[in-house]
Amino acid sequence: MRNVVETPSQGVPIVLTASATDMSDFNLSPFRAFTGGFPTNIIPRRLLRKYWYPPVPNNGDETAKYAPYGIRKIEALLIREFGSKNVAVARPDNLKEVVGPKTKIIGISSMEPAGIGFVSRTYTSFMGFGGEPMAAAEFRDLIRKPILRRWRAKIILGGSGAWQIHLAKLQRKYGIDCIVMGEGERTVLKIFRMALNGEEIPQIVETESPNPEEIPCIVHPSIFGTVEITRGCGRGCKFCSPTFRRSYSFPLEHILKEVQLNAKNGTKMILLASEDIFLYRSKEKFLPNREALVTLIRSIAAVPGVEYIQPAHASLAPVVYDPKMIEEIGPILLEKANWVTNGTRHSSVEIGIETGSIRLMNEHMKGKMLPYKPKEWHDVVTEGIEILNKNSIWPLATLIIGLPGETEKDTIATLELLDKLRHSKVFYVPLLFTSEEDCMLREARHMDLKYLTSLQWELIATCWEYNIEVFVSKSLQRKIRLAAMVAYALYYRWKHGRKVLRPIMNFSGWNKDRTRQIENLGT
Ligand code: SF4
Repeated sequence: MRNVVETPSQGVPIVLTASATDMSDFNLSPFRAFTGGFPTNIIPRRLLRKYWYPPVPNNGDETAKYAPYGIRKIEALLIREFGSKNVAVARPDNLKEVVGPKTKIIGISSMEPAGIGFVSRTYTSFMGFGGEPMAAAEFRDLIRKPILRRWRAKIILGGSGAWQIHLAKLQRKYGIDCIVMGEGERTVLKIFRMALNGEEIPQIVETESPNPEEIPCIVHPSIFGTVEITRGCGRGCKFCSPTFRRSYSFPLEHILKEVQLNAKNGTKMILLASEDIFLYRSKEKFLPNREALVTLIRSIAAVPGVEYIQPAHASLAPVVYDPKMIEEIGPILLEKANWVTNGTRHSSVEIGIETGSIRLMNEHMKGKMLPYKPKEWHDVVTEGIEILNKNSIWPLATLIIGLPGETEKDTIATLELLDKLRHSKVFYVPLLFTSEEDCMLREARHMDLKYLTSLQWELIATCWEYNIEVFVSKSLQRKIRLAAMVAYALYYRWKHGRKVLRPIMNFSGWNKDRTRQIENLGT
């Protein structure tokens, strides 16, 4: 079953869409989708659209074959309520064919509409000369399409980045009638019904968490073959919004139904959406449930058509608590891996290291390492990564620079932790602290490049130095390092001052005695 656009010239009553970056699978690379936060002006967008984030294919009519998972969830609810003929999911470049006089609602989902999330703020400001983040530019292109206004349809915005439009005060400028913030399943039907009946709809809706039974299975395939295995977290990190969501695991039959739907429709990959795969049917105090997780991964791998399995997020404490669990799932993930680095095949998952400072762990995320204590954080990180690497899992790890209250000592602690991981297979993504609207630290000041200390620059440079050592071939490493020195001479010196010289020298291999300098800087 798929959407049927009966009379395209008249339009479909409810049209769902997303921007060009959200409507792409980045050539089947979920981690490459992070680059939606990179600036636009370096490579022309028409080339990026063609080669970097090409659009998902269509069904053979004007509807999209694959769509973001959040859109697919809302679509499933709307189809159940209003029928498949009344709902169409389309790419931005197909809106003219599905929007018409009968269209009453255009629902838009977005992850990064204003470019003020962690990745966008960090990498757009870091490059500086590149203009706004790609994801924000693409969202603006979408929201300014004349077809959106032509038939006076109501514009409803949802998705994980909806808060950005509210925070950036762009709702009126962008002509958005209603912003839905939070999980949509319990709330959106009411709003869509009101809009279809021509009633006034609220400008802002903060939703309630649904019960698991209220969440339908998707009925059309999702980008990356995304399938949600758990929702919520509850470890309580203060910079994070999913921690507020009710936490539960979906039943195995529900998950497999969505996997089968995606595989049958040629997604090739299954992306296991979760804040932490080890929360799947976990026991008290976040203890992992090895039997349940192994059964889940085995069952998904056995579905015909599943070529790749990509877990989205994981925490490290369960890895240390139950290494046997990793020994059991590691070979399956390797067999279904989509990553090859310098000739070595491996799997991957995103983890959060965030900081090496025990003080900041205690202050902002003391549940992250449960059942261990904050003071054991370095051991949890180093042991956890060692176990993952032994099982061919090379994680992508985020680090947050400039957490509220961060001092030089905290930054040194993070540098020390990185040095302990020196030869590990990890791809580091350092991010500037960003106070998102729906987290406990929403009142805290964002970190900005102009406030970065020499040590914090050192931390960023160290992350990229290690990334290049592990993930880039030797011949390319030399070119990148040379280019970094040229970029310093031509640009970074003028933009950020001499404090970036030492980190760039370290990064470029011109500075051999780094450890002693870190100590000196910190005293
Ligand atoms: S462990 Fe991850 S998902 Fe859970 S609260 Fe912390 S940052 Fe959020």
